[in-house]
Amino acid sequence: MNRRKFISGALISSLTSGLSLSSLGMLEAQASPLSRSNLSPKVSGATRPSLATHSQREQGYQLDSHVKDAVNKAKDFEQDYANDIYLSKHQRVLLRSTLNRLTRLQRLVGYANFNLISFDSAIVYARRYPVVGRFSKREIALIEALYVYDASNYGFLGQKVSEKLTDKIVVKEVKKIAGSGHYLYQGEALKLYQKLKKELSNDLILTSGIRSVVKQLHLFMAKADKSDGNLSRAARSLAPPGHSFHGIGDFDVGQKGLGAANFTSAFMETKIHQQLTDLGLIAERYPESNPFGVRHEPWHIKVIRDV
Ligand SMILES: [Zn+2]
Repeated sequence: MNRRKFISGALISSLTSGLSLSSLGMLEAQASPLSRSNLSPKVSGATRPSLATHSQREQGYQLDSHVKDAVNKAKDFEQDYANDIYLSKHQRVLLRSTLNRLTRLQRLVGYANFNLISFDSAIVYARRYPVVGRFSKREIALIEALYVYDASNYGFLGQKVSEKLTDKIVVKEVKKIAGSGHYLYQGEALKLYQKLKKELSNDLILTSGIRSVVKQLHLFMAKADKSDGNLSRAARSLAPPGHSFHGIGDFDVGQKGLGAANFTSAFMETKIHQQLTDLGLIAERYPESNPFGVRHEPWHIKVIRDV
């Protein structure tokens, strides 16, 4: 049996003793061997002194080896690796019940609406509709813990782009894309999508647009469930809740008729991918060997330049 690292005692104790969210976050930060500030790709070279101190050189080395490690693991992203972070057996049961509740909620509100739903609305709907059923305190604690957890511990080195778990999407700012079940932000995202629709084959489809924190949470939990509770493995395939650029403008495209295979390397064999590459119209958020520890996603269109 492999020795496994779990999401840490902080979560377990929060579930049993009702620790507050802030103290949970504090404990997680203390438990982390490297703080996010050391790992953030946002750290600007301009603010660094020209001569690094010994400890800065040490940090630089740790940063480099951490990034290299994450890049290597993302190449074979469905593998389990030493130091991966797992949910405990007990937490996995809780994950399944939370995931199922979110799936029932998605069925209730509809696939398209679920893409935009906020955490507060999710709580209200769940309470109001017995077909979903209210979230238990433990389920909410799990959601909160997954949201505040320092994702760099998973080996995910991307930025956090949402401000809080309860972030809301302003309906006036978005547009539903007919026939897709998805929404895009008015402005840059919509303009880029319309340009692609015009210049590429008619076979171009929108496979994922705006995702609220709750939607990303649902996807992440489903992946974690399929990954036997290995949160690091899940994070190599998709951004943990709060870290997805789908929340602020990016979107995914695919080839009509390819179905779920649009989210696999099969997409690279399609006419749409060929056209995207030939026209040089797009930038990928997660190119091959990206420094964020995420698998190559040739279908993910980068709209937001930086945060
Ligand atoms: Zn994407």
